[in-house]
Amino acid sequence: MHTEPIHSFTSGYRFLSNFFSSPVSYDGWMYPTVEHAYQAAKTDDQMMREVIRKCKTPSGAKHIGRHVRLKFEWDKVKVQEMRVLLRQKFLTHKDLRGRLLSTWPAELIEGNWWHGNFWGVCGCVDCEGKSGLNTLGKLLMEIREEFRNEQQESTTQTTVPSEEEVCDKGTCVGSTESSNTER
Ligand SMILES: [Zn+2]
Repeated sequence: MHTEPIHSFTSGYRFLSNFFSSPVSYDGWMYPTVEHAYQAAKTDDQMMREVIRKCKTPSGAKHIGRHVRLKFEWDKVKVQEMRVLLRQKFLTHKDLRGRLLSTWPAELIEGNWWHGNFWGVCGCVDCEGKSGLNTLGKLLMEIREEFRNEQQESTTQTTVPSEEEVCDKGTCVGSTESSNTER
């Protein structure tokens, strides 16, 4: 059992990062990472979504996402949009779901150095005393809990619905960029 908190989504825990290669769909299009899809979700501008979708790296997608025209009330829906994308990531990539479950019951903290105190917790001197909200870590723990509950239910039932397997032929390979989203 994993009891020590996981403070950083790097090395062995890189799969928890939104930069991890794990194709997800958004509004009918496939995006290479959750980061790409999330950045595209910010805007209704279809041209910008396409530019983001074609970005070679999640950091490139994040960069472009800073300059898009935000859709109506983005701030109010962004956590829910992230939740849906994360759930999809771990539902469709069964290997990643297994790895997420194996972190239980460790606290998942998206530690970073870029003052990301909404989605994570920045560990720099300037941010000392600010308590990061760790929204991404909390969403991951919430989804992990959902999967655990489903697992427990499925052991008492005989039929388990099969899920679509999107990830195949080794597409789940981590990229090298550093993590995450803040906006
Ligand atoms: Zn900081």
